[in-house]
Amino acid sequence: MAPERAAAWHARSPQDVLDALRSSPHGLTTADAAERLRRHGPNRLPGRRGPGPWQRLAQQFHQPLIYILLASGAIALLLGEWADAGVIFGVVLVNALIGFVQEGKAADALAALARSVASTVTVLRDGRMVACEAVELVPGDVVRLGAGDKVPADLRLFDARSLQIAEAALTGESVAVAKDTATVPADGVLAERACMAYAGTLVTAGQGCGVVVATGADTEVGRIAHLLDVTDALATPLTRAMAGFSRVLLWLILGLAVFGFVVGWMRGEALADMLMAAVALAVGAIPEGLPAAVTVTLAIGVARMARRKAIVRRLPAVETLGSTTVICSDKTGTLTENRMTVKVLWQGGRSFEWAENTPEPSAEPGRAGLPAGLNELLVAGVLCNDARLQADAAGGPASGDPTEVALLVAADVGGLDGAALRGACPRLGEIPFDAARPYMAVKVCVADHPVVFVKGGLEALLPRCAAQIGVDGCPEALDPAAVEVAATALAADGLRVLAFARGGDGTLGAELPAQGLVFLGLQAMQDPPRPAAIRAVAACRAAGVTVKMITGDHAATALAVARQLGIAADGDAVLTGRDLAGLDALALQAAAMRVNVFARVEPAQKLRLVQALQAGGEVVAMTGDGVNDAPALKAADIGVAMGAGGTEVAKEAAAMVLTDDNFATLEAAVEAGRGVFDNLVKFILWTLPTNFAEGLVILFAVLAGTTLPITPLQILWINMTTAVLLGMTLAFEPIEPDVMGRPPRPPGAPVLDAVQMRRVVLVGALLVAAAFGLFLRWRGFGASLEEARTIAVNVFVAGEVAYLFNCRSLRGGFWRGGVLANPWFWLGIGAMVALQAAFTWWPAMNRLFASAPPPPAAWLEIGAAAWALALAVGLEKRLTGGSASRPGAARIAR
Ligand code: ADP
Ligand code: MG
Repeated sequence: MAPERAAAWHARSPQDVLDALRSSPHGLTTADAAERLRRHGPNRLPGRRGPGPWQRLAQQFHQPLIYILLASGAIALLLGEWADAGVIFGVVLVNALIGFVQEGKAADALAALARSVASTVTVLRDGRMVACEAVELVPGDVVRLGAGDKVPADLRLFDARSLQIAEAALTGESVAVAKDTATVPADGVLAERACMAYAGTLVTAGQGCGVVVATGADTEVGRIAHLLDVTDALATPLTRAMAGFSRVLLWLILGLAVFGFVVGWMRGEALADMLMAAVALAVGAIPEGLPAAVTVTLAIGVARMARRKAIVRRLPAVETLGSTTVICSDKTGTLTENRMTVKVLWQGGRSFEWAENTPEPSAEPGRAGLPAGLNELLVAGVLCNDARLQADAAGGPASGDPTEVALLVAADVGGLDGAALRGACPRLGEIPFDAARPYMAVKVCVADHPVVFVKGGLEALLPRCAAQIGVDGCPEALDPAAVEVAATALAADGLRVLAFARGGDGTLGAELPAQGLVFLGLQAMQDPPRPAAIRAVAACRAAGVTVKMITGDHAATALAVARQLGIAADGDAVLTGRDLAGLDALALQAAAMRVNVFARVEPAQKLRLVQALQAGGEVVAMTGDGVNDAPALKAADIGVAMGAGGTEVAKEAAAMVLTDDNFATLEAAVEAGRGVFDNLVKFILWTLPTNFAEGLVILFAVLAGTTLPITPLQILWINMTTAVLLGMTLAFEPIEPDVMGRPPRPPGAPVLDAVQMRRVVLVGALLVAAAFGLFLRWRGFGASLEEARTIAVNVFVAGEVAYLFNCRSLRGGFWRGGVLANPWFWLGIGAMVALQAAFTWWPAMNRLFASAPPPPAAWLEIGAAAWALALAVGLEKRLTGGSASRPGAARIAR
């Protein structure tokens, strides 16, 4: 499609556009669409262009610690230490390549996950409404839009009912604009083209229909796609904290290096020796593997969560999950199964058990003796309804809102032929259901007369009713108090109560009239809690995470269901949206913290609740599915959208998407988030003592005026091989069984607690003592410098292998998660042993690293030292419980 012509779509009439695209208001045929798909390609934006590969590689060198390494290499070069300089530069390069590849993989995996939340659209094919994936749209397709949809392609609208679209993605203007179908002058700018809906924009209200005029890269957003800023998707609070830590480390290491250099120099040591010692110190103390390990661990966590049906859209969410203290969850569909069955009808002052549930249409038409009033209640449920029991004549599953499907089934149980009824009573107008206005109204034509039927929450309907229909179908006086009592009793059983009414005079505007409706009755339906959600709520409680239910449903229903789920206890308070509206900020904060069940809450109030909880110091995860939930999802520490039942708008605003809409999945994600953080801590806990010890060994040697027990080159060798082969394997450790028995990690708390910091110092000191001790001891026995240094290197590596066992579990023994649960652990150790053997005995390596095979007797002492180290740490973990926070503390803490 030539851009000049595409630009004029808004200036042409809908019929003209349809003709030009060889389409019609009934859409394309499947065959035609398939043919066009081949021609135009999938409706997908060309991949976002982030920084190019060279730029990303260059960024790998742009780290303070790498600067020191580069400077160290330069010094070695100046001193003519060619081998040292070569290896240092080689290590920097290898390190950059590892980081480059790992980060690339992590970014790709994240992008793939984001894409995997496929968006479906409603499109007319072969004259029928079908759901299809947005990528399969082609020019000429006729697409239906509804509130909450993301516009899938550029559309010329030919039907718009109260349609509002937020075009911030294109125009930067966040206020939604009203759309209509009238043509616009050809020179109208993008923001003025009210008859167009553009790909990537969000429908905030109303409904519409349009024909696709451009897909993929041909869309307006496709043309500016390369302008979209690429957020640094891999930065998280933790990686930023790490970067800060690196800067501190940088100055510390520089300071120590200068200190050592000055001390040695004043003592009259050779300048070159002291420079090389400073280089060794810098090289040893830098944890080269750290940045890559953080990214890899987070990426593994993201992949794990995806397997458990939680798609992370923003990487920081992985960490925040581990700190979550409050989860605010929707009721229907998330905590409950969203499988509704009408159990009780209440009509004309009488209650009718409606227990049978036959999904098949019943054979006998019309049940004998169905009272006229009851009949009308069921008719209202069928006509004021957008669901269908069967997709077509050929049968098939029911489709639509489960609440409405239940009403159809209820009518069917009563013997009504819903399909025939709908055929006989065409719809003339409607007010669609909206969470902010909990009712729905239709105007239908019944026997040539317009009739209005309304269904919704009792609070919305009852005040508008002046009379009621009796059991015999005739109007009679209405006793609102009796209706309230009946509704509350039903709700107290956990039933979802819908009220029905008939419009007085058969007219319907944009809003319901304030009075004059005739009350028809109630239909009460059951929606059982998910058994998995009950278990998940209990798990959250044990983990110090409070679960709060926020629902649009009636207070009594909400409390009853909350009790079944274990969210509330007998006699607990419920706050309604109206209660909340009357509270000032401080009272709201107190109430939000204290109460666990919020009913009849309007979506807009969710935002206030999130903010109140955050003001109270909570880290809040909030679920949502509708358009109006987006602000709350954005404001929450973790916005969680529903993948199956949620709108595109909600998914867009969320940090995480649950593909199965299930609360239990959210709980599993919290657990996985904690597991990921644990694994990060394990790596850091493992790597820091090594660097600490290597730095100290050099510093001591310089201060004491002895030869370096390990050369800079050898230190680099240790750092690189052990970080990748040993440390990295900790990222694959399974989640420990006790993660949900602890309180949430306070946000902003140091990564290592006091107990863990002490362990770093302990292990570092033991490593220094062992390496130094054995080095001096074997020198004393007459071993060559090469041999003694090889012993020191092997002490370090053996000690790190031994300590790796300690690090597999933060609090328990190394067997805690299963001895063979992490095959990488054993593979890594095997590979490390092989490499170390090469370092020790292979002549080529001996030449490069100035190593030499030590006397066999030394191996006993190396092994004993490593063994002692592991035992000492094991003992320390026993005594301290492994960390400052103990399992089981959650219950006491909260
Ligand atoms: P939840 O927060 O549990 O998901 P909803 O927002 O789905 O609750 O529903 C809140 C209230 O809105 C219900 O109690 C009911 O009164 C009303 N309602 C729900 N669905 C419909 C519908 N399809 N038509 C009319 N009213 C509805
Ligand atoms: Mg809902």
